[in-house]
Amino acid sequence: MPKRTTLSMDKRYICVYCGYAGKVLDYRVLLKSGLYSRKLFNCPDCKNTMFKGTLITKITNKYWGAWIYVNTKLYGRRFTEKVQWEILKKRLWDYGISREFWEGFNYIKNNYNKIPQEKLNELSVLTPIDRQTKLD
Ligand SMILES: [Zn+2]
Repeated sequence: MPKRTTLSMDKRYICVYCGYAGKVLDYRVLLKSGLYSRKLFNCPDCKNTMFKGTLITKITNKYWGAWIYVNTKLYGRRFTEKVQWEILKKRLWDYGISREFWEGFNYIKNNYNKIPQEKLNELSVLTPIDRQTKLD
């Protein structure tokens, strides 16, 4: 059975839209009730709001690139406007994961028309590493 994804207070979580790395407390969303949301999180850097799964799902760098590309194709501007391309590119480089990220991105880009729609739909949702379909 897949391990349930729980939040760790010490771990750093990376924002998929800008590459910001912060602790879960940095991403908290304060609700009108005065409580913090358990479902929604907000990047303190790029201000994008995301579901818990988007923030904490463990993915490979290659899969991250593939996910970004698939979503730009499926959702167009609605998605691409969320991505902070310049800062993301710089951070990927700083983290030393640029090559893997772009490998995933370009693999999907170059094979987009050959990939079945159901696989694209699957790739558009962040899926934990152990349940991801193989990219190539
Ligand atoms: Zn961000």
